[in-house]
Amino acid sequence: MHMTPDEFRTYGKQVVDWIADYRGGIENHPVRAKVRPGEIRAGLPAHPPDRGEPFDRLLADLDERILPGVTHWQHPDFFAYFPANATGPSILGDLLSSGLGVQGMVWATSPACTELETVVVDWLAELLGLPPGFRTDGPGGGVIQDSASSAALVAVLAALHRVSGGTVGDEGISRRYTIYVTSETHSALEKAGRITGIGARNVRVVDVDPSTLAMDPAHLAALLEADTAAGAVPALVCATIGTTSTTAIDPVAAIGEVCQAHEVWLHVDAAYAGVAAVCPELRWINEGVAEYVDSYATNPHKWLLTNHDCTVLWVTDRAPLIGALSILPEFLRNPATESGAVIDYRDWQIPLGRRFRALKLWAVLRWYGAEGLRAHIRSGIELAGGFAALVAADDRFELHEPRHFGLVCFRPKWTDERIMALLERLNESGELYLSHTRVHGRVTLRFAVGSTSTTAQHVRDAWAAITAAVAQAGPR
Ligand SMILES: *Cc1c(COP(=O)(O)O)cnc(C)c1O
Repeated sequence: MHMTPDEFRTYGKQVVDWIADYRGGIENHPVRAKVRPGEIRAGLPAHPPDRGEPFDRLLADLDERILPGVTHWQHPDFFAYFPANATGPSILGDLLSSGLGVQGMVWATSPACTELETVVVDWLAELLGLPPGFRTDGPGGGVIQDSASSAALVAVLAALHRVSGGTVGDEGISRRYTIYVTSETHSALEKAGRITGIGARNVRVVDVDPSTLAMDPAHLAALLEADTAAGAVPALVCATIGTTSTTAIDPVAAIGEVCQAHEVWLHVDAAYAGVAAVCPELRWINEGVAEYVDSYATNPHKWLLTNHDCTVLWVTDRAPLIGALSILPEFLRNPATESGAVIDYRDWQIPLGRRFRALKLWAVLRWYGAEGLRAHIRSGIELAGGFAALVAADDRFELHEPRHFGLVCFRPKWTDERIMALLERLNESGELYLSHTRVHGRVTLRFAVGSTSTTAQHVRDAWAAITAAVAQAGPR
């Protein structure tokens, strides 16, 4: 009944071959899946099998029934959203994690799962030039989370714990707590506001500078003062380094001064862009982090070559985090935990159970080395720069500036409706995949470079496809 080690070896080789063939031939697929809603489901049996089936039947169905409904995120012409790099070493690291099948909820349930994680998050902090206070050998430390959204939620919980003196966890929310974001902050913060019981209405929206879309620290200070005077308790400010919409960069140092004056927790969401600091020439993006920040999250699972899921969250003081999240039921009591000599990462996250995610990050950091990581980030930035230059040189288009990292925001000088129709036509073609946002209320196209296989030729071809579609639509 169970797959024997020999069967596993046979099918495992087939699966690895399947993946290698898929990745080698990825350009033969349309980038975006060309299926109607419900089409994939309709092609699958309505009922589960009574008898087990050979694994190759599943592989055959994967080709025939599943692949048509897959959007190819690793395709070199995938320019939508942000990249979700899934590289060879990360896939293999994840496979090893699955193969070991450990559950690393506490140190004692698999010591290497915890200790390798400590090593790789400390390594990554060093690679990104993050402050020594983020290292695990002091009061702070890092942890791998499933997502930047979870990292934000955990940061809000730690901040609530600190500002309430621990009473929120025991007694629930009994006062009006507030958190501070901008119109450009990721929706994960509003979600955290809802989940924690702070309430979406108490997620306060600070003004942005109209040209850079970065948070206005003076308005933050004014809101904090007004809210405090009105009896609210400010719990957390979220600054973003590289917003999702346009990669705007909030002024962390200036925001940090305001937070320090008001004793408010400062969380930095650098989900997409934080990993760019692996390049010394980009370390300026973290100005103010060392002086002011309480927590900081970035996603190796976007642009740093590591497959989902791998967000790293660092805190400068782990006490409020553990204070907010640690509960010790009898079944988890063990001498190592009681000795205080080990880390139990279950106390740093929402779920109890945890996968051995450190293996894939370890595999990536060792395979690429700092030099390889830097080369990947630099190549994305250079290719995006090349695309931006093409846009800037064509007076049918507007380029959104300032521009950072691997994202180009641009628009034909058209109405929103015409741009949305153009976007749909381009994406329907299967030749490339772009996404959109709104900047000052107007539809703007997003061209995000960061796939490992994208070359200058792919970028030129994408531009040719866009300009051809614009020319075909004609002036109006
Ligand atoms: C992508 C992104 C997120 C969400 O990341 P998840 O890991 O998918 O939760 C949060 N913040 C920013 C700035 C992002 O770009």
